[in-house]
Amino acid sequence: MLTRADAVVIGGGVVGCAVAYYLSKAGARVALVERSVVGSGASSVNPGSIAMATKKGGTVLELARASQRLHEGLSAELGTPTEYAVEGNLIVAESETEIAYLEELAAGQRAVGVPVELVDEQRCRELNPLLRGRVLSGLYCATDAHANPFKVTQGFADAARNRGAQLFTGTAVEGILVEAGHVTGVMTSRGNIEAPWVINAAGAFAPMIGKMVGATHDVVPRRGQIVVLEATDALPGIRVSGASQLLAKHVAAPADGRPHRTPISLSYTRKPLSGTVLLGSTNEFVGYDSRNTREVVAGICECAARFMPELGRLNVLRSWAGLRPYSSKGPLLGDGGGPAGYAVATGHGGDGMALSPVTGLYLSRYVGRDGEAYPVAQFLQDLKSADGAIQ
Ligand SMILES: Cc1cc2nc3c(=O)[nH]c(=O)nc-3n(C[C@H](O)[C@H](O)[C@H](O)COP(=O)(O)OP(=O)(O)OC[C@H]3O[C@@H](n4cnc5c(N)ncnc54)[C@H](O)[C@@H]3O)c2cc1C
Repeated sequence: MLTRADAVVIGGGVVGCAVAYYLSKAGARVALVERSVVGSGASSVNPGSIAMATKKGGTVLELARASQRLHEGLSAELGTPTEYAVEGNLIVAESETEIAYLEELAAGQRAVGVPVELVDEQRCRELNPLLRGRVLSGLYCATDAHANPFKVTQGFADAARNRGAQLFTGTAVEGILVEAGHVTGVMTSRGNIEAPWVINAAGAFAPMIGKMVGATHDVVPRRGQIVVLEATDALPGIRVSGASQLLAKHVAAPADGRPHRTPISLSYTRKPLSGTVLLGSTNEFVGYDSRNTREVVAGICECAARFMPELGRLNVLRSWAGLRPYSSKGPLLGDGGGPAGYAVATGHGGDGMALSPVTGLYLSRYVGRDGEAYPVAQFLQDLKSADGAIQ
């Protein structure tokens, strides 16, 4: 077991692996500690959408735009295909309320240069001819993309290792060492690692890590369930979801911590290489229960067959569920609010795959400033100055 590093990253999801990669690239000696295997949490259960059309204007959208630029070059950067593909994204409205919501979203997105279009019913059906159910209009973003979440996560992990990072899988962090108000390392199930920086990238489990240093993080698990249909050649590649799914995504966790589920909506993603179709997911606050439920799996299939009857002839291959690290504040990046040297990279909710490269880059710069404040707004400004194409 390594006993000394410049930084310990806790969690081997896409976020932790991205942080480990960019820190290693910046020259730091990194130890990544993952209690299970790389990509065993939320990072392997998502459809890999890298979408701007699903985000409200503001910091998250700006981070997402910068992150998409990084995703575009990630296969070359990491030396492994991430299966990044631009297939477009259509969000359809079933009611006047949803139309107004999409118009508001589009205004915020256009304000920062995202090329979204408001399209009528006919255009929606042209874009994805499977659509048969009630559709009034839609929000379309031709540049929205997706990538393979397994490949992105493993790609970051392998590239970090190639740059000298040590990855300790099957190793749980059990405590954080602090002396005189400064982090000095972590206690793990396989021994201690000394380091002046500890980055909490434990996803939905980040609050438990925070408790180890007396820090409170506004992160709660938000379950998403997915149904996978068998591969077939002939289906359209463009992603389609209902505006109601987006409205559900933007619903905050109940303050009293009670379980909360939103209605099931259409969500269709076809994976270009495998040809499988992913349906879902849901947005459920049900604590740390990461199991599928029979009624939700049936509901996802029923909803898809209502909007896209042709899917009804395909067999279901499998279903899965996972826990997003939801934060009402959006991603929590940088200062962890604990001892000096304790940082966070969590709270990405349903956007962690999309935001992983920009998160890793930000954390590497934050740590590189060695405790000096680095507001995310300043980071975004620095990116724009360095590359005028990131607007
Ligand atoms: C159904 C679903 C659909 C989604 N769709 C999308 C999408 O299309 N696009 C998108 O961008 N995002 C999507 N997301 C969100 C995305 O998956 C998450 O935001 C992202 O995976 C979070 O990554 P993470 O590394 O923070 O967390 P995780 O992947 O959960 O990783 C955290 C890791 O920390 C480890 N850990 C926890 N405690 C300890 C400990 N004490 N010691 C050591 N290790 C520990 C865990 O084992 C885990 O591997 C979706 C999520 C779900 C569930």
